[in-house]
Amino acid sequence: MNKKQNKNNTEMKNNKVLTAEEQSKLTPNKVIEILKRGNEAFADNRLALQNSIERVQNAVNGQHPEAVILSCIDSRVPVEDIFQCGIGDIFVARVAGNIVNPDILGSLEYACKVSGAKLIVVMGHEHCGAIKSAIDDVELGNITGLLSKIKPAVNQSKVNFKGETTSGNAAFVEKVCYANMELMVNEIRKNSPILKAMEDKGEIKIVGAIYGLESGKVEFFEKNKIKNIIEQLSIRFFS
Ligand SMILES: [Zn+2]
Repeated sequence: MNKKQNKNNTEMKNNKVLTAEEQSKLTPNKVIEILKRGNEAFADNRLALQNSIERVQNAVNGQHPEAVILSCIDSRVPVEDIFQCGIGDIFVARVAGNIVNPDILGSLEYACKVSGAKLIVVMGHEHCGAIKSAIDDVELGNITGLLSKIKPAVNQSKVNFKGETTSGNAAFVEKVCYANMELMVNEIRKNSPILKAMEDKGEIKIVGAIYGLESGKVEFFEKNKIKNIIEQLSIRFFS
């Protein structure tokens, strides 16, 4: 990245918050590009955005974010920073294990159908404690019910898995993490006719992503590619 590109990047993210008109001109693919570029800046240690009081005030009268990210609550995953986003740029829904439930679906529908966001990203992350707890069958208060939503990914990942299916096995934890991401993307399509219809019409995209705790990089997985990735993982670790 040369100085000129860096300057452009800085200028882009320090602009005022998105207007309704700017948002309406964005496409789902363009938003993926913007998020990828922001993540490159973060992972290259040249995060340029700082929320200013000017930006706070610019956003008072409305918001027109470009995307909604469904992320885990993990404190090591600062979602806005990861994508070099500031006030007004993205909606963020956070719940342990980035699971989908009716309230999360309602939030995603609000972000896209009501507020015009163009992209839904279900973002899991490496070394996820919720995934490990689901593998370990942890039972505690309301955590039990939450983890039950990750169990289908655990059970699916056990099929044809040749190593130890424990939270101590990094390969198994990774497989469950990807499977959970894929299942949650499909849950959205299955349980939200509104979002499914928007995706079918090309108004939005629903994609998966995994955040690397060590690299700071986000890898995106679009429709029909997630399964291939899980199969590739199986080949890499288990053949
Ligand atoms: Zn997590």
